[in-house]
Amino acid sequence: MILDSYRHKGLRKQLVETIKKKGIEDKNVLKAIDTVPRHLFMDSSFLEFAYEDKPFPIGSGQTISQPYTVAFQTELLEIKKGDKVLEVGTGSGYQACILMELGARVYTIERQKNLYFKTKSFLPSIGYKPKLISYGDGYKGLPPYAPFDKILVTAGAPHIPDTLIDQLIPGGILVIPVGPDIQIMKRIIKIDESNYKEEDHGTFRFVPLLTKKADSTVTLKDKLFFCPSLSVISA
Ligand code: SAH
Repeated sequence: MILDSYRHKGLRKQLVETIKKKGIEDKNVLKAIDTVPRHLFMDSSFLEFAYEDKPFPIGSGQTISQPYTVAFQTELLEIKKGDKVLEVGTGSGYQACILMELGARVYTIERQKNLYFKTKSFLPSIGYKPKLISYGDGYKGLPPYAPFDKILVTAGAPHIPDTLIDQLIPGGILVIPVGPDIQIMKRIIKIDESNYKEEDHGTFRFVPLLTKKADSTVTLKDKLFFCPSLSVISA
């Protein structure tokens, strides 16, 4: 059992102040960062790193994004309660929980099977229920569930996939980091079926969006991270 203690809550408040100073203004996004217990998404032996504004390894060569980056992407999405949102790159599920805290109905896709299984059972164990956690290739989106109000890609893409723009409603927003080593944060606003507006929002560094099936072996550390019986207690 892992506690969400006063200490964790205090550290989260400091994290909120840090990302506020870096320029995050949306009160609802800051509140979501203040609410989601990020330490539960990381291996228990690394708890002291949970509330630093840094990315962190989550196994399978992947990372939980830096809180500032999560907040920045979320702010760009302008989430409204009830928005139907597709996330490409489930990872630890932390970003999906931030979106759910904002009232989004979240559909999320993960390319790596072990992360998919781990997060699919972990999120309900701490009380978060996405509409769908899916195993598959995010480049393709989720045609049976389209259209979406918003789409968020949480890995660096070599280009903007047309398939994702196609799965947005007119007026919908796609936030996607694009580039090989360092990415430019792009915000695409779909105007109608044949037109969209593209904006640049600075540079970031993400793990790459995988183009091939890339399941890695489950390591002992991955197994230790996976703890389906985990429950949160507020202290
Ligand atoms: N949103 C995550 C962080 C994601 S790191 C979180 O909050 O923890 C990027 C994730 O994208 C990794 O889990 C990686 O396995 C996944 N990914 C990479 N290529 C993908 C693809 N083509 N389709 C779906 N997921 C992909």
